[in-house]
Amino acid sequence: MKFGGTSVGDATRIRKVIEIIREAAREGDVVVVVSAMSGVTNRLIEAASQAEAGNRDAVDAIFQELRDRHSAAVSALIHSVEMRSRISRELRLVFEEGERLCQGTTLLRELTVRAQDSISSLGERLSAPLVAAALADCRVRSEAVEATQVVVTDDCHGSADPLTGPTRERCESRLRPILQRGAIPVVTGFIGATEKGVLTTLGRGGSDYSATILGAALDADEVTIWTDVDGLMTADPRLVLGATTIPEISYREAAELAHFGAKVLHPKTLRAVTQCGIPLWIRNTFFPERPGTRVTPAGSSADQAVKGLTAITDVTLITVDGPGIVGIPDVLGRTFAATAAARGNVLLISQSSSQNDICLVVPSSGAERTAEALRREFARHLAHEKMDHITLDPSVAIVTVVGKNMRGSGTVGRTFTALSRENVNLIAIAQGSSECNLSLIVKQQEVKTALHAIHQEFQLGVLDSRPLPVRSVDLGAANWHYDSGQQTASAD
Ligand code: ADP
Ligand code: ASP
Ligand code: MG
Repeated sequence: MKFGGTSVGDATRIRKVIEIIREAAREGDVVVVVSAMSGVTNRLIEAASQAEAGNRDAVDAIFQELRDRHSAAVSALIHSVEMRSRISRELRLVFEEGERLCQGTTLLRELTVRAQDSISSLGERLSAPLVAAALADCRVRSEAVEATQVVVTDDCHGSADPLTGPTRERCESRLRPILQRGAIPVVTGFIGATEKGVLTTLGRGGSDYSATILGAALDADEVTIWTDVDGLMTADPRLVLGATTIPEISYREAAELAHFGAKVLHPKTLRAVTQCGIPLWIRNTFFPERPGTRVTPAGSSADQAVKGLTAITDVTLITVDGPGIVGIPDVLGRTFAATAAARGNVLLISQSSSQNDICLVVPSSGAERTAEALRREFARHLAHEKMDHITLDPSVAIVTVVGKNMRGSGTVGRTFTALSRENVNLIAIAQGSSECNLSLIVKQQEVKTALHAIHQEFQLGVLDSRPLPVRSVDLGAANWHYDSGQQTASAD
Protein backbone atom coordinates (compact mmCIF):
# COMPACT_ATOMS: atom_id res chain seq x y z
CA MET A 1 0.00 0.00 0.00
CA LYS A 2 1.39 3.36 -1.00
CA PHE A 3 0.25 6.56 0.66
CA GLY A 4 0.87 9.83 -1.17
CA GLY A 5 1.92 13.20 0.19
CA THR A 6 -1.56 14.50 1.00
CA SER A 7 -2.43 11.24 2.73
CA VAL A 8 0.48 11.72 5.15
CA GLY A 9 0.25 15.54 5.11
CA ASP A 10 -0.40 16.03 8.83
CA ALA A 11 -1.22 14.16 12.03
CA THR A 12 -4.98 13.95 11.34
CA ARG A 13 -4.36 12.42 7.94
CA ILE A 14 -1.75 10.02 9.24
CA ARG A 15 -4.36 8.75 11.74
CA LYS A 16 -6.60 7.86 8.78
CA VAL A 17 -3.68 6.08 7.14
CA ILE A 18 -3.10 4.06 10.30
CA GLU A 19 -6.75 2.96 10.34
CA ILE A 20 -6.48 1.76 6.74
CA ILE A 21 -3.24 -0.13 7.42
CA ARG A 22 -4.58 -1.66 10.60
CA GLU A 23 -7.72 -2.88 8.81
CA ALA A 24 -5.70 -4.36 5.91
CA ALA A 25 -3.21 -6.04 8.25
CA ARG A 26 -6.08 -8.09 9.69
CA GLU A 27 -6.53 -9.68 6.26
CA GLY A 28 -2.90 -10.42 5.39
CA ASP A 29 0.67 -9.18 5.12
CA VAL A 30 1.05 -5.52 4.28
CA VAL A 31 4.07 -3.55 3.11
CA VAL A 32 3.62 0.21 3.32
CA VAL A 33 5.32 2.77 1.06
CA VAL A 34 5.11 6.42 2.01
CA SER A 35 5.75 9.69 0.20
CA ALA A 36 7.10 12.78 1.89
CA MET A 37 4.46 14.96 3.60
CA SER A 38 2.77 17.08 0.92
CA GLY A 39 4.87 19.98 -0.29
CA VAL A 40 8.02 18.83 1.53
CA THR A 41 9.91 17.62 -1.56
CA ASN A 42 9.24 20.94 -3.29
CA ARG A 43 10.64 22.81 -0.29
CA LEU A 44 13.72 20.58 -0.19
CA ILE A 45 14.39 21.19 -3.87
CA GLU A 46 14.03 24.90 -3.18
CA ALA A 47 16.51 24.56 -0.31
CA ALA A 48 18.97 22.82 -2.62
CA SER A 49 18.84 25.57 -5.21
CA GLN A 50 19.09 28.28 -2.52
CA ALA A 51 22.16 26.47 -1.21
CA GLU A 52 23.68 26.45 -4.68
CA ALA A 53 23.04 30.19 -4.93
CA GLY A 54 24.74 30.70 -1.57
CA ASN A 55 21.60 31.88 0.27
CA ARG A 56 22.23 30.29 3.66
CA ASP A 57 19.45 32.18 5.42
CA ALA A 58 16.87 30.93 2.96
CA VAL A 59 18.11 27.35 3.45
CA ASP A 60 17.93 27.72 7.24
CA ALA A 61 14.41 29.10 7.04
CA ILE A 62 13.23 26.14 4.97
CA PHE A 63 14.80 23.61 7.31
CA GLN A 64 13.26 25.36 10.32
CA GLU A 65 9.83 25.26 8.68
CA LEU A 66 10.21 21.54 7.92
CA ARG A 67 11.45 20.80 11.45
CA ASP A 68 8.41 22.57 12.92
CA ARG A 69 6.02 20.70 10.67
CA HIS A 70 7.45 17.28 11.49
CA SER A 71 7.74 17.93 15.20
CA ALA A 72 4.10 19.07 15.32
CA ALA A 73 3.15 15.72 13.78
CA VAL A 74 5.38 13.82 16.23
CA SER A 75 3.80 15.60 19.20
CA ALA A 76 0.28 14.89 17.98
CA LEU A 77 0.85 11.25 17.05
CA ILE A 78 3.32 9.79 19.52
CA HIS A 79 2.19 9.53 23.11
CA SER A 80 4.94 7.49 24.73
CA VAL A 81 7.67 9.82 26.00
CA GLU A 82 10.37 7.29 25.28
CA MET A 83 9.23 6.71 21.70
CA ARG A 84 8.79 10.42 21.13
CA SER A 85 12.37 11.14 22.09
CA ARG A 86 13.65 8.22 19.99
CA ILE A 87 11.78 9.36 16.88
CA SER A 88 12.74 12.99 17.46
CA ARG A 89 16.39 11.93 17.61
CA GLU A 90 16.03 9.94 14.37
CA LEU A 91 14.44 12.88 12.57
CA ARG A 92 17.09 15.25 13.93
CA LEU A 93 19.82 13.09 12.39
CA VAL A 94 18.09 13.23 8.99
CA PHE A 95 17.75 17.03 9.22
CA GLU A 96 21.41 17.37 10.22
CA GLU A 97 22.45 15.29 7.23
CA GLY A 98 20.34 17.51 4.97
CA GLU A 99 21.89 20.65 6.39
CA ARG A 100 25.40 19.28 5.85
CA LEU A 101 24.51 18.46 2.23
CA CYS A 102 23.27 22.02 1.74
CA GLN A 103 26.40 23.47 3.40
CA GLY A 104 28.58 21.42 1.04
CA THR A 105 26.54 22.65 -1.90
CA THR A 106 26.96 26.26 -0.76
CA LEU A 107 30.72 25.82 -0.37
CA LEU A 108 31.08 24.38 -3.84
CA ARG A 109 28.40 26.61 -5.35
CA GLU A 110 27.49 23.54 -7.30
CA LEU A 111 24.51 21.27 -6.94
CA THR A 112 25.62 17.85 -8.14
CA VAL A 113 23.03 15.32 -9.29
CA ARG A 114 23.95 13.15 -6.32
CA ALA A 115 23.45 15.99 -3.84
CA GLN A 116 20.17 16.94 -5.53
CA ASP A 117 18.91 13.37 -5.10
CA SER A 118 20.12 13.15 -1.50
CA ILE A 119 18.50 16.44 -0.52
CA SER A 120 15.19 15.79 -2.27
CA SER A 121 14.96 12.32 -0.70
CA LEU A 122 14.96 13.68 2.86
CA GLY A 123 11.16 14.06 2.94
CA GLU A 124 10.56 10.32 2.62
CA ARG A 125 13.35 9.62 5.08
CA LEU A 126 11.42 11.75 7.57
CA SER A 127 7.90 10.50 6.86
CA ALA A 128 8.67 6.76 6.95
CA PRO A 129 10.00 6.72 10.54
CA LEU A 130 7.17 9.05 11.54
CA VAL A 131 4.45 6.76 10.13
CA ALA A 132 6.18 3.65 11.53
CA ALA A 133 6.31 5.24 14.98
CA ALA A 134 2.68 6.37 14.72
CA LEU A 135 1.70 2.76 13.91
CA ALA A 136 3.69 1.49 16.86
CA ASP A 137 1.98 4.09 19.04
CA CYS A 138 -1.31 2.46 18.05
CA ARG A 139 0.12 -0.98 18.90
CA VAL A 140 0.62 -2.01 15.28
CA ARG A 141 4.05 -3.62 14.96
CA SER A 142 6.08 -1.84 12.31
CA GLU A 143 9.59 -1.03 11.17
CA ALA A 144 10.78 1.89 9.06
CA VAL A 145 12.96 0.79 6.15
CA GLU A 146 15.04 3.01 3.89
CA ALA A 147 14.46 1.98 0.29
CA THR A 148 18.20 2.36 -0.32
CA GLN A 149 18.41 -1.06 1.32
CA VAL A 150 15.83 -2.71 -0.94
CA VAL A 151 15.35 -0.92 -4.26
CA VAL A 152 18.50 -1.39 -6.34
CA THR A 153 18.66 0.95 -9.33
CA ASP A 154 20.88 2.06 -12.17
CA ASP A 155 22.84 5.28 -11.64
CA CYS A 156 20.56 7.58 -13.62
CA HIS A 157 20.12 10.21 -10.91
CA GLY A 158 16.76 11.93 -10.90
CA SER A 159 14.99 9.19 -12.87
CA ALA A 160 16.61 5.92 -11.88
CA ASP A 161 15.23 2.56 -12.97
CA PRO A 162 15.20 -0.55 -10.82
CA LEU A 163 17.36 -3.62 -11.38
CA THR A 164 14.83 -6.41 -10.98
CA GLY A 165 17.04 -9.30 -9.84
CA PRO A 166 19.00 -7.52 -7.11
CA THR A 167 15.83 -5.74 -5.89
CA ARG A 168 14.07 -9.08 -5.54
CA GLU A 169 16.96 -10.51 -3.52
CA ARG A 170 17.07 -7.48 -1.21
CA CYS A 171 13.30 -7.61 -0.68
CA GLU A 172 13.58 -11.25 0.34
CA SER A 173 16.44 -10.61 2.73
CA ARG A 174 15.29 -7.28 4.20
CA LEU A 175 11.48 -7.10 3.96
CA ARG A 176 10.32 -10.73 4.10
CA PRO A 177 11.79 -11.33 7.59
CA ILE A 178 9.91 -8.28 8.91
CA LEU A 179 6.64 -9.69 7.52
CA GLN A 180 7.46 -13.12 8.96
CA ARG A 181 7.84 -11.50 12.38
CA GLY A 182 4.29 -10.19 11.99
CA ALA A 183 5.38 -6.57 11.57
CA ILE A 184 4.70 -4.02 8.83
CA PRO A 185 7.65 -2.58 6.92
CA VAL A 186 7.16 1.14 6.23
CA VAL A 187 9.40 1.87 3.26
CA THR A 188 10.47 5.27 1.93
CA GLY A 189 8.96 5.84 -1.52
CA PHE A 190 10.76 7.70 -4.33
CA ILE A 191 14.23 6.43 -3.38
CA GLY A 192 16.61 3.65 -4.35
CA ALA A 193 20.35 3.12 -4.40
CA THR A 194 22.84 1.83 -6.93
CA GLU A 195 24.57 -1.50 -6.37
CA LYS A 196 27.40 0.51 -4.81
CA GLY A 197 24.96 2.06 -2.35
CA VAL A 198 24.73 5.57 -3.83
CA LEU A 199 21.27 7.06 -3.23
CA THR A 200 19.14 7.69 -6.32
CA THR A 201 15.59 8.91 -6.89
CA LEU A 202 13.02 7.52 -9.30
CA GLY A 203 11.70 10.90 -10.49
CA ARG A 204 9.10 13.32 -9.16
CA GLY A 205 5.98 11.51 -8.03
CA GLY A 206 8.01 8.30 -8.07
CA SER A 207 6.58 6.73 -4.91
CA ASP A 208 3.85 5.12 -7.02
CA TYR A 209 6.62 3.38 -8.93
CA SER A 210 8.28 2.35 -5.65
CA ALA A 211 5.04 0.60 -4.68
CA THR A 212 4.78 -1.46 -7.86
CA ILE A 213 8.52 -2.25 -7.80
CA LEU A 214 8.15 -3.68 -4.30
CA GLY A 215 4.81 -5.36 -5.10
CA ALA A 216 6.38 -7.16 -8.06
CA ALA A 217 9.56 -8.05 -6.15
CA LEU A 218 7.54 -9.58 -3.32
CA ASP A 219 4.94 -11.29 -5.57
CA ALA A 220 2.19 -9.32 -3.84
CA ASP A 221 -1.47 -10.22 -4.45
CA GLU A 222 -2.21 -6.59 -5.22
CA VAL A 223 -0.83 -3.06 -4.96
CA THR A 224 -2.96 -0.15 -3.75
CA ILE A 225 -2.11 3.48 -4.39
CA TRP A 226 -3.93 5.47 -1.69
CA THR A 227 -4.33 9.09 -2.73
CA ASP A 228 -6.58 12.14 -2.40
CA VAL A 229 -9.09 11.34 -5.17
CA ASP A 230 -11.49 8.42 -5.67
CA GLY A 231 -9.37 6.69 -8.30
CA LEU A 232 -8.23 7.17 -11.84
CA MET A 233 -10.76 9.61 -13.26
CA THR A 234 -12.05 10.36 -16.73
CA ALA A 235 -10.11 13.66 -16.57
CA ASP A 236 -8.20 15.71 -14.03
CA PRO A 237 -10.97 16.74 -11.60
CA ARG A 238 -9.28 20.12 -11.18
CA LEU A 239 -9.81 20.82 -14.88
CA VAL A 240 -13.09 19.07 -15.68
CA LEU A 241 -16.02 19.53 -13.39
CA GLY A 242 -18.00 16.29 -13.40
CA ALA A 243 -15.07 13.97 -14.15
CA THR A 244 -15.96 10.52 -12.83
CA THR A 245 -14.02 7.59 -11.42
CA ILE A 246 -13.20 4.82 -13.89
CA PRO A 247 -14.15 1.53 -12.19
CA GLU A 248 -11.80 -0.70 -14.17
CA ILE A 249 -9.14 0.02 -16.74
CA SER A 250 -6.36 -1.88 -18.51
CA TYR A 251 -2.66 -1.48 -17.75
CA ARG A 252 -2.14 -0.05 -21.21
CA GLU A 253 -4.81 2.62 -20.89
CA ALA A 254 -3.72 3.57 -17.38
CA ALA A 255 -0.12 3.82 -18.57
CA GLU A 256 -1.18 6.06 -21.48
CA LEU A 257 -3.17 8.32 -19.14
CA ALA A 258 -0.18 8.49 -16.77
CA HIS A 259 2.28 9.14 -19.61
CA PHE A 260 0.15 12.00 -20.89
CA GLY A 261 -0.28 13.73 -17.56
CA ALA A 262 -2.71 11.99 -15.20
CA LYS A 263 -0.67 12.96 -12.14
CA VAL A 264 -2.40 10.40 -9.94
CA LEU A 265 -0.01 7.74 -11.33
CA HIS A 266 3.70 8.15 -12.02
CA PRO A 267 4.20 7.35 -15.72
CA LYS A 268 6.41 4.34 -14.99
CA THR A 269 4.13 2.79 -12.36
CA LEU A 270 2.70 0.08 -14.61
CA ARG A 271 6.10 -0.97 -15.96
CA ALA A 272 6.96 -2.85 -12.81
CA VAL A 273 3.83 -5.04 -12.87
CA THR A 274 3.45 -5.61 -16.62
CA GLN A 275 5.26 -8.97 -16.47
CA CYS A 276 3.54 -10.35 -13.39
CA GLY A 277 0.02 -8.96 -13.95
CA ILE A 278 -0.58 -7.94 -10.33
CA PRO A 279 -3.80 -5.90 -10.07
CA LEU A 280 -3.32 -2.28 -9.05
CA TRP A 281 -5.92 -0.29 -7.14
CA ILE A 282 -6.18 3.47 -6.85
CA ARG A 283 -8.25 4.51 -3.86
CA ASN A 284 -9.10 7.52 -1.72
CA THR A 285 -7.47 7.65 1.74
CA PHE A 286 -10.19 10.03 2.91
CA PHE A 287 -13.07 7.83 1.67
CA PRO A 288 -11.74 4.28 2.02
CA GLU A 289 -15.28 2.89 1.72
CA ARG A 290 -15.36 3.94 -1.96
CA PRO A 291 -14.31 1.21 -4.39
CA GLY A 292 -11.69 3.15 -6.39
CA THR A 293 -10.22 2.08 -9.71
CA ARG A 294 -8.95 -1.41 -10.48
CA VAL A 295 -6.16 -1.57 -13.05
CA THR A 296 -5.76 -5.02 -14.58
CA PRO A 297 -3.80 -6.39 -17.54
CA ALA A 298 -6.87 -6.53 -19.80
CA GLY A 299 -9.27 -4.03 -18.22
CA SER A 300 -13.02 -4.65 -18.34
CA SER A 301 -14.56 -6.34 -21.37
CA ALA A 302 -17.64 -4.11 -21.72
CA ASP A 303 -15.83 -0.94 -22.52
CA GLN A 304 -16.70 2.28 -24.22
CA ALA A 305 -14.16 3.46 -26.78
CA VAL A 306 -12.84 6.48 -24.88
CA LYS A 307 -11.72 5.88 -21.30
CA GLY A 308 -10.26 9.18 -20.26
CA LEU A 309 -8.63 12.47 -21.19
CA THR A 310 -5.46 14.13 -20.01
CA ALA A 311 -3.67 17.41 -20.47
CA ILE A 312 -0.06 18.48 -20.01
CA THR A 313 0.51 22.20 -19.96
CA ASP A 314 4.18 22.67 -19.07
CA VAL A 315 5.38 21.57 -22.50
CA THR A 316 7.11 23.28 -25.39
CA LEU A 317 6.65 22.68 -29.09
CA ILE A 318 9.97 22.55 -30.94
CA THR A 319 9.59 22.97 -34.69
CA VAL A 320 12.34 22.08 -37.11
CA ASP A 321 11.35 23.47 -40.47
CA GLY A 322 12.47 24.59 -43.87
CA PRO A 323 11.75 23.58 -47.45
CA GLY A 324 15.06 21.75 -47.75
CA ILE A 325 14.79 19.35 -44.85
CA VAL A 326 13.35 16.69 -47.10
CA GLY A 327 16.81 16.46 -48.69
CA ILE A 328 18.76 16.15 -45.45
CA PRO A 329 19.90 12.55 -45.11
CA ASP A 330 18.26 10.66 -42.23
CA VAL A 331 16.76 13.84 -40.82
CA LEU A 332 14.36 11.99 -38.53
CA GLY A 333 16.95 9.56 -37.23
CA ARG A 334 19.34 12.41 -36.47
CA THR A 335 16.57 14.39 -34.78
CA PHE A 336 15.86 11.43 -32.49
CA ALA A 337 19.53 10.75 -31.83
CA ALA A 338 20.22 14.39 -30.94
CA THR A 339 17.22 14.65 -28.59
CA ALA A 340 18.09 11.33 -26.96
CA ALA A 341 21.70 12.42 -26.43
CA ALA A 342 20.41 15.58 -24.72
CA ARG A 343 18.18 13.31 -22.59
CA GLY A 344 15.21 15.12 -24.09
CA ASN A 345 11.99 13.40 -23.07
CA VAL A 346 10.02 13.61 -26.32
CA LEU A 347 6.36 13.30 -25.41
CA LEU A 348 5.12 13.48 -28.96
CA ILE A 349 6.34 13.88 -32.49
CA SER A 350 4.48 14.89 -35.60
CA GLN A 351 5.81 15.26 -39.13
CA SER A 352 4.04 16.50 -42.22
CA SER A 353 4.26 14.09 -45.14
CA SER A 354 5.93 16.75 -47.28
CA GLN A 355 8.66 16.70 -44.59
CA ASN A 356 8.65 20.48 -44.48
CA ASP A 357 8.55 20.42 -40.73
CA ILE A 358 9.05 18.16 -37.79
CA CYS A 359 7.31 19.02 -34.53
CA LEU A 360 8.50 17.68 -31.20
CA VAL A 361 6.78 18.29 -27.91
CA VAL A 362 9.02 18.08 -24.84
CA PRO A 363 8.65 19.11 -21.19
CA SER A 364 9.42 22.84 -20.97
CA SER A 365 12.16 22.20 -18.39
CA GLY A 366 14.33 20.46 -21.00
CA ALA A 367 13.21 22.38 -24.11
CA GLU A 368 16.19 24.74 -24.43
CA ARG A 369 18.64 21.90 -23.95
CA THR A 370 16.91 19.80 -26.62
CA ALA A 371 16.70 22.72 -29.07
CA GLU A 372 20.41 23.46 -28.55
CA ALA A 373 21.27 19.83 -29.28
CA LEU A 374 19.25 20.01 -32.49
CA ARG A 375 20.89 23.28 -33.53
CA ARG A 376 24.30 21.68 -33.03
CA GLU A 377 23.32 18.54 -34.96
CA PHE A 378 21.96 20.53 -37.91
CA ALA A 379 24.37 23.49 -37.72
CA ARG A 380 25.67 22.92 -41.25
CA HIS A 381 22.16 22.74 -42.76
CA LEU A 382 21.02 25.81 -40.83
CA ALA A 383 24.03 27.71 -42.18
CA HIS A 384 23.26 26.62 -45.76
CA GLU A 385 19.57 27.45 -45.35
CA LYS A 386 18.34 23.92 -46.04
CA MET A 387 16.73 24.30 -42.69
CA ASP A 388 15.05 27.61 -41.87
CA HIS A 389 15.11 27.56 -38.14
CA ILE A 390 14.48 25.61 -35.00
CA THR A 391 11.85 27.42 -32.96
CA LEU A 392 10.34 26.97 -29.53
CA ASP A 393 6.74 27.67 -28.55
CA PRO A 394 6.06 27.28 -24.82
CA SER A 395 2.44 28.42 -25.06
CA VAL A 396 1.05 25.03 -26.12
CA ALA A 397 -0.41 22.04 -24.31
CA ILE A 398 -1.03 18.40 -25.16
CA VAL A 399 -4.56 17.08 -24.78
CA THR A 400 -4.78 13.30 -25.10
CA VAL A 401 -7.78 11.03 -25.64
CA VAL A 402 -7.14 7.48 -24.37
CA GLY A 403 -9.01 4.22 -24.88
CA LYS A 404 -8.01 0.78 -26.09
CA ASN A 405 -11.18 0.30 -28.13
CA MET A 406 -10.82 3.49 -30.14
CA ARG A 407 -9.83 1.70 -33.33
CA GLY A 408 -12.64 1.94 -35.88
CA SER A 409 -14.98 3.58 -33.40
CA GLY A 410 -15.14 6.98 -35.06
CA THR A 411 -13.43 8.58 -32.06
CA VAL A 412 -11.13 10.75 -34.12
CA GLY A 413 -13.89 12.26 -36.20
CA ARG A 414 -16.09 12.88 -33.17
CA THR A 415 -13.17 14.48 -31.31
CA PHE A 416 -12.46 16.89 -34.16
CA THR A 417 -16.14 17.72 -34.56
CA ALA A 418 -16.50 18.45 -30.85
CA LEU A 419 -13.43 20.69 -30.90
CA SER A 420 -14.39 22.57 -34.02
CA ARG A 421 -17.82 23.24 -32.49
CA GLU A 422 -15.97 25.09 -29.72
CA ASN A 423 -13.56 26.76 -32.18
CA VAL A 424 -10.53 25.08 -30.63
CA ASN A 425 -7.62 25.40 -33.01
CA LEU A 426 -5.49 22.26 -33.48
CA ILE A 427 -1.80 23.02 -33.96
CA ALA A 428 -0.65 19.43 -34.50
CA ILE A 429 -1.96 15.94 -33.93
CA ALA A 430 -0.42 12.52 -33.30
CA GLN A 431 -1.92 9.09 -33.04
CA GLY A 432 -0.14 5.85 -32.21
CA SER A 433 -0.71 3.04 -34.68
CA SER A 434 -2.26 1.00 -31.86
CA GLU A 435 -4.93 3.73 -31.79
CA CYS A 436 -4.91 3.65 -28.00
CA ASN A 437 -4.27 7.38 -27.82
CA LEU A 438 -4.91 10.45 -29.86
CA SER A 439 -2.89 13.52 -28.91
CA LEU A 440 -3.73 17.05 -29.89
CA ILE A 441 -1.56 20.11 -29.55
CA VAL A 442 -3.62 23.15 -28.65
CA LYS A 443 -2.96 26.58 -27.17
CA GLN A 444 -2.69 26.46 -23.38
CA GLN A 445 -5.60 28.82 -22.91
CA GLU A 446 -7.84 26.41 -24.84
CA VAL A 447 -7.09 23.33 -22.75
CA LYS A 448 -10.13 23.54 -20.49
CA THR A 449 -12.49 24.17 -23.39
CA ALA A 450 -10.97 21.28 -25.33
CA LEU A 451 -11.24 18.87 -22.41
CA HIS A 452 -14.83 19.85 -21.68
CA ALA A 453 -15.86 19.52 -25.31
CA ILE A 454 -14.38 16.02 -25.67
CA HIS A 455 -15.56 14.90 -22.22
CA GLN A 456 -19.07 15.92 -23.12
CA GLU A 457 -18.93 14.45 -26.62
CA PHE A 458 -18.13 11.00 -25.19
CA GLN A 459 -20.40 11.47 -22.18
CA LEU A 460 -17.64 10.54 -19.80
CA GLY A 461 -18.92 12.37 -16.75
CA VAL A 462 -21.95 12.77 -14.58
CA LEU A 463 -22.73 16.13 -16.10
CA ASP A 464 -22.20 14.88 -19.64
CA SER A 465 -25.07 12.40 -19.87
CA ARG A 466 -27.58 14.98 -20.99
CA PRO A 467 -28.16 15.02 -24.77
CA LEU A 468 -25.71 17.11 -26.70
CA PRO A 469 -27.11 20.29 -28.19
CA VAL A 470 -25.67 19.49 -31.59
CA ARG A 471 -25.59 15.97 -33.00
CA SER A 472 -22.02 14.96 -33.73
CA VAL A 473 -21.03 13.93 -37.20
CA ASP A 474 -19.12 10.67 -37.22
CA LEU A 475 -16.29 11.24 -39.64
CA GLY A 476 -14.87 7.78 -39.00
CA ALA A 477 -11.31 6.82 -38.22
CA ALA A 478 -10.27 6.88 -41.87
CA ASN A 479 -10.88 10.62 -42.03
CA TRP A 480 -8.55 11.57 -39.28
CA HIS A 481 -6.04 13.31 -41.58
CA TYR A 482 -7.62 16.51 -40.54
CA ASP A 483 -5.04 18.85 -41.98
CA SER A 484 -3.82 18.47 -45.52
CA GLY A 485 -1.02 15.99 -45.65
CA GLN A 486 -0.60 15.62 -41.87
CA GLN A 487 1.04 12.33 -41.16
CA THR A 488 1.77 11.61 -37.56
CA ALA A 489 3.17 9.04 -35.21
CA SER A 490 3.17 8.77 -31.47
CA ALA A 491 6.46 9.16 -29.64
CA ASP A 492 6.23 6.17 -27.32
P1 ADP B 1 -0.31 11.71 -4.18
O1 ADP B 1 0.25 12.78 -3.32
O2 ADP B 1 -1.29 10.83 -3.47
O3 ADP B 1 0.74 10.94 -4.91
P2 ADP B 1 -0.82 13.30 -6.52
O4 ADP B 1 -1.05 14.73 -6.21
O5 ADP B 1 0.53 12.91 -7.02
O6 ADP B 1 -1.20 12.45 -5.23
O7 ADP B 1 -1.91 12.77 -7.56
C1 ADP B 1 -3.28 12.94 -7.26
C2 ADP B 1 -3.82 14.12 -8.03
O8 ADP B 1 -3.74 13.84 -9.42
C3 ADP B 1 -5.28 14.38 -7.80
O9 ADP B 1 -5.48 15.20 -6.69
C4 ADP B 1 -5.74 15.02 -9.11
O10 ADP B 1 -5.84 16.40 -8.96
C5 ADP B 1 -4.61 14.73 -10.08
N1 ADP B 1 -5.10 14.09 -11.32
C6 ADP B 1 -4.76 14.49 -12.57
N2 ADP B 1 -5.37 13.73 -13.49
C7 ADP B 1 -6.10 12.81 -12.82
C8 ADP B 1 -6.95 11.74 -13.23
N3 ADP B 1 -7.16 11.44 -14.51
N4 ADP B 1 -7.53 11.00 -12.27
C9 ADP B 1 -7.32 11.28 -10.96
N5 ADP B 1 -6.55 12.29 -10.52
C10 ADP B 1 -5.93 13.04 -11.43
N1 ASP C 1 7.90 13.07 -2.64
C1 ASP C 1 8.23 12.81 -4.02
C2 ASP C 1 7.73 13.96 -4.88
O1 ASP C 1 7.10 14.88 -4.38
C3 ASP C 1 7.72 11.49 -4.51
C4 ASP C 1 6.22 11.28 -4.45
O2 ASP C 1 5.52 12.05 -3.79
O3 ASP C 1 5.76 10.32 -5.05
O4 ASP C 1 7.98 13.97 -6.04
MG1 MG D 1 1.86 11.33 -6.66
